[in-house]
Amino acid sequence: MLEIKNINKNYQTGEFIQKALNNVSIKFREHEFVAILGPSGSGKTTLLNILGGLDQYDHGDLLVNGLSTKKFKSKDWDAYRNNCIGFIFQSYNLISHISIQSNVELTMTLSNYTKKKRKSKAQEALKRVGLIDHAHKKPNQLSGGQMQRVAIARALVNDPNIILADEPTGALDSKTSIQIMEMIKDIAKDKLVIMVTHNRELAEKYASRIIELKDGEIVSDSNPYNTEEKNKKISIKKTKMSFLTAISLSFNNILTKKGRTILTALASSIGIIGIALILSLSNGFDIQIKKFESDSLSSLPIVISEESMTLDEENAESMMGIEKDKEKYPSDEVIYPKDPIYEQLTVKNVITKEYIDFIENLDSSKINGISYTRITNMNLITKKDDIYSPVSMQELSYSVLPKKLGDNQKNGIIEEDFDLLAGSLPETYTDLILMVDMYNNLPSSVITALGLDKNQEKLTFDDLIGKEIKLVNNDEYYINTGNYFLPSQNYEEMYNASDTKALRIVGIIRAKEGNKIYQNSSALLYSDDLIKYVIEQNQNSQIVKAQKNADYNIMTGEKFSDDEKGTELKEQILAYLGADSVPMAIQIYPTDFESKEYIVNALDEYNSNKNEEEKILYTDMSELMTELSSSIMDGITIVLIAFSSISLVVSSIMIGIITYISVLERTKEIGILRSLGARKKDITRVFNAETTIIGLFSGLLGIGITSLLIIPVNIILYNLTELKNVAILNSLHAVILIVTSLILTLIGGFIPAIIASKKNPVEALRTE
Ligand code: ADP
Ligand code: MG
Repeated sequence: MLEIKNINKNYQTGEFIQKALNNVSIKFREHEFVAILGPSGSGKTTLLNILGGLDQYDHGDLLVNGLSTKKFKSKDWDAYRNNCIGFIFQSYNLISHISIQSNVELTMTLSNYTKKKRKSKAQEALKRVGLIDHAHKKPNQLSGGQMQRVAIARALVNDPNIILADEPTGALDSKTSIQIMEMIKDIAKDKLVIMVTHNRELAEKYASRIIELKDGEIVSDSNPYNTEEKNKKISIKKTKMSFLTAISLSFNNILTKKGRTILTALASSIGIIGIALILSLSNGFDIQIKKFESDSLSSLPIVISEESMTLDEENAESMMGIEKDKEKYPSDEVIYPKDPIYEQLTVKNVITKEYIDFIENLDSSKINGISYTRITNMNLITKKDDIYSPVSMQELSYSVLPKKLGDNQKNGIIEEDFDLLAGSLPETYTDLILMVDMYNNLPSSVITALGLDKNQEKLTFDDLIGKEIKLVNNDEYYINTGNYFLPSQNYEEMYNASDTKALRIVGIIRAKEGNKIYQNSSALLYSDDLIKYVIEQNQNSQIVKAQKNADYNIMTGEKFSDDEKGTELKEQILAYLGADSVPMAIQIYPTDFESKEYIVNALDEYNSNKNEEEKILYTDMSELMTELSSSIMDGITIVLIAFSSISLVVSSIMIGIITYISVLERTKEIGILRSLGARKKDITRVFNAETTIIGLFSGLLGIGITSLLIIPVNIILYNLTELKNVAILNSLHAVILIVTSLILTLIGGFIPAIIASKKNPVEALRTE
């Protein structure tokens, strides 16, 4: 059944060629106990290794059941070792980090028996060698003889036809040797046992045939066999180690070096921790920014003013004084005239009545409020004790309250961004409201203007609610003195006149807590309807008519110049006096971020079929702020991640080194696995399993540590910025990072794993 024909094997070390086997031919019986005797270095081990398919012959042939092995590939030899051969070594060659039971099961694991079958067969084999009670011990808890019995159980478990034993008693005392020999003799009853020994006494006592070797040649054979026999066809099942087996092997190995593994995983998790922290911070800040945007920035208006500046990249360069097409420090003795950059970049927006109509007809549900800035003046008079005096709009911090389009939700923007502290919201155009800042401050000039004493430490809401100032029409307020118009000094009379309007404070509002935009603002607010009323009253007043016909300022006598500036000035004075209702600027307050998109699109739409001069440009205040903040965030995040990635690279190199060390440490194990029939691929798999475990562990460790670090980070950030729970680790990021860690460690361990699989099994077995 097993036959070698004219086998030659040479070993080459450098120039020197060592002849280990020289033209050896032997034919074995199906059941016999062959002892191979010979002095050290005579080629016994080499012969045994070739018979077992652990080493390959140079010339000749090995026949298994008449089948030539000349064309065997690496994986055929692996299958042959696993199916047909049981090895017993002098040094036992057990894997030290797994149990006796697992050691015995290993052969079957490679040929993919079920777990149940493996267990029962291993127990059967252990029973046969009398070690069933020691199944769960580790090899180093056994004596030498016991370990050799485990090795015998392992050799028998897959029920091979051939048992190869290389000096099985070489390391044992004589009493134990005899026990082992008895056992092997028993095995040889129904198997071919080939045993190498240099103990002639034992060979003669137990073996049925003795072959003597010397210098790689056969010198004697006590019981040669030459019968032609009919060969049965044999089938050799291919071996394969499942990834699960590889994982459990590596897991047990890792358990034997816990400290090192934890340190490695910790070190290689640092990169993951860095990136995870950065991601969770930028993630958190993004959320905070989004919240801030919808909380506050949506209250920022889209502004359309008389003058607008587009800040594209080119304009930004011009703003910084960069002129691309001009030479710096010219040597020419010339000077170039240049207008101020601001003037070059600003575009005049001509706000027309048509445009106002267009704005007023936008979808009112998308707009929280619109406010028009006009330079229209109001003639105001206040009363303090019994003294009547004029007040300017500046003294009152007088500003227009954004109005709601349409009738419903008239005070939308106030309700959204402000708390009503006292009184009520405005109902008609003569109602005014006071806006105080977050400390309930109100400018003292307003207090004086309202006829109260600003020197008091504090005022009550009741002091202010119901206070009145009086609004006087131009025709009552200005007196015609011929060429000029001057304000009348008769304040008391005007104050009490029947057609004088009383403007009354009806409520006090304050920006909601956390609103950053209005928290520092305080003012007296009036409605756009009031301005409209003023314009209606004054647009045909005497002073306006006179101003329209004059080429000088009707109040000061100052002459207007003949150029564009003069015309502009005249128009401004007319607007001041109430002649014109076209506003100077428009602020549109969107209800939220999506509505803002709608408004911006509508404004763009308006411009799309207009020529350059008719186009009306707008400034999106919130866009300016968010673009700035999110691009800065993105930039910072990318830079920080790039830095942390360096540590990821470092850690994968480190994993490579650690795996390489592990390969060196596990060389013997590689040899054992190969002798049991493990393929090269399986060896790679064992080490890939090891790196997988480390990679997974370090990824999980990194994410775990990050989750813990986030707690103090958030506490520190809260103390610094008052932002709650900024750092949030996104679970998708966590999964991606763990996978990244896994992939990087696999890459790091890949080369060492390949090196491991390339190891020569014979040499691997010889290492200690
Ligand atoms: P034995 O087992 O009979 O003591 P071996 O079969 O181990 O002898 O070795 C036979 C000869 O081949 C010896 O001279 C030994 O030095 C040589 N030899 C064995 N293995 C190698 C090897 N891997 N490289 C070089 N020489 C080797
Ligand atoms: Mg030897």
